Amino acid sequence: MAKPMTMTEKIIAAHAGRDHVNPGDNVWVGVDVLMTHDVCGPGTIGIFKERFGQNAKVWDKDRVVIIPDHYIFTAEDKCHRNIQILRDFVREQGLKYYYDPDFVTSEPGMPNPYKDPTKTSYKGVCHKALPEEGHVRPGEILLGTDSHSCTAGAFGQLASGVGNTDAAFVLGTGKTWLKVPPTMKFTFRGQIPPYLTAKDLILAVIGEISVSGGTYKTMYFAGDGVSSLTLEDRMTLTNMVIEAGGKNGVCDVDEKTLQYVRARSNVDHWTVYKDDPGCAYDCEYEWDLGTLEPLVAKPYSPDNKDTAHNCRDVKIDRAYIGSCTGGKITDMIFAANLLSGHTVKIPTYVVPGSTEVHADMLRLNIQGQAKQEGEKSIYQVLEDAGCLISASSCAACLGGPMDTFGRLNEPMACISTTNRNFPGRMGHKDAGVYLASPLTAAATALTGYVTDPREYVSEPIATGSAGVL
Ligand code: SF4
Repeated sequence: MAKPMTMTEKIIAAHAGRDHVNPGDNVWVGVDVLMTHDVCGPGTIGIFKERFGQNAKVWDKDRVVIIPDHYIFTAEDKCHRNIQILRDFVREQGLKYYYDPDFVTSEPGMPNPYKDPTKTSYKGVCHKALPEEGHVRPGEILLGTDSHSCTAGAFGQLASGVGNTDAAFVLGTGKTWLKVPPTMKFTFRGQIPPYLTAKDLILAVIGEISVSGGTYKTMYFAGDGVSSLTLEDRMTLTNMVIEAGGKNGVCDVDEKTLQYVRARSNVDHWTVYKDDPGCAYDCEYEWDLGTLEPLVAKPYSPDNKDTAHNCRDVKIDRAYIGSCTGGKITDMIFAANLLSGHTVKIPTYVVPGSTEVHADMLRLNIQGQAKQEGEKSIYQVLEDAGCLISASSCAACLGGPMDTFGRLNEPMACISTTNRNFPGRMGHKDAGVYLASPLTAAATALTGYVTDPREYVSEPIATGSAGVL
């Protein structure tokens, strides 16, 4: 009988043309999708041309996806030049999937943002835009020149970040060399309580195993606790596996996954893999969601875990709700429900994770349903609470140029729904970032101190079909 394999091992075996692989094997695999963006795209293109020739063509012009997202809203002309390099390459290669920030022109200065998020070719943050635009399916291998490319593993695929050199090789050949990672299994039991989001779950995991505890391993999230999460919340789990050094993160494919992929995929066939009974895990951890408390990661590391309650005396100067981790529409719904009818006490910056999220913030009410006449949108609720809301991009998640919206330009304490809090990550090297769920960030925005969201939330927050259809 064939030796049992995990989901990741099966995906690698299928893409290597083998019946079986073992952790530690080195194999060549075919890549289904390669994504790059405005920061790493120009470097990748440069290496591709240097190694494959000035007139070389990419291996498959329908499998290369380019999504500018990082340094969009800045007057920095080097950033605008990067966009131009991408445009030239897309034209030269005839690439099908490029999401242009059409409002970035050759004029110097800060670009005027899109006026209507539904009427721009720009999509916002790549990891949010990839599934929205139909580039993510179960059973595939997706590589991206961004460490958070692991996000797409929430859809039951192998998704991982690569450097520019590996990406240039994939551009030229459609292949990469992979060492098969061993799989760590993290099981969550019970239904997600109203005061927790997936951010609390992943902070618990990273706090337990440390920022190097998953190095070059698959992190598999299982159990009825994970099934109870929305697909968007599962993306928060897989997004942050790289914060533990993980090679990739995966969740099981269920009806929620299939509903999303059926509605969005630009390819109409895919293969669903799951772990065989009796497959070998590197290690296993288990949590009961009923006993887990709202968590934060204190400066300066995502594994510096504490409970929000323990940090209640920590004064906070700013709140930030955004990024591929914490700027999805369900994150906005969580924050808006908590802030509805209140006024924030500290400056609170909100950045939609994609232009689709931005459009949904205008279109939906805080239950995630189409807003009726006289009802407030998510956007209005956040605005009425005193939040400062910008156009979609990576914005201050990674600091960026000095004129970036929400950037921490001074030493200050910030509570943030983003995924990294190393020194300088959001701007000033002496600013202290507390990573938290959108509920904890919103509760903190109301008090100016790290605040446990249980002080405000007791009932489940409905999200409807927001972020799915
Ligand atoms: S939002 Fe932040 S973590 Fe996500 S891709 Fe952009 S910079 Fe990276």
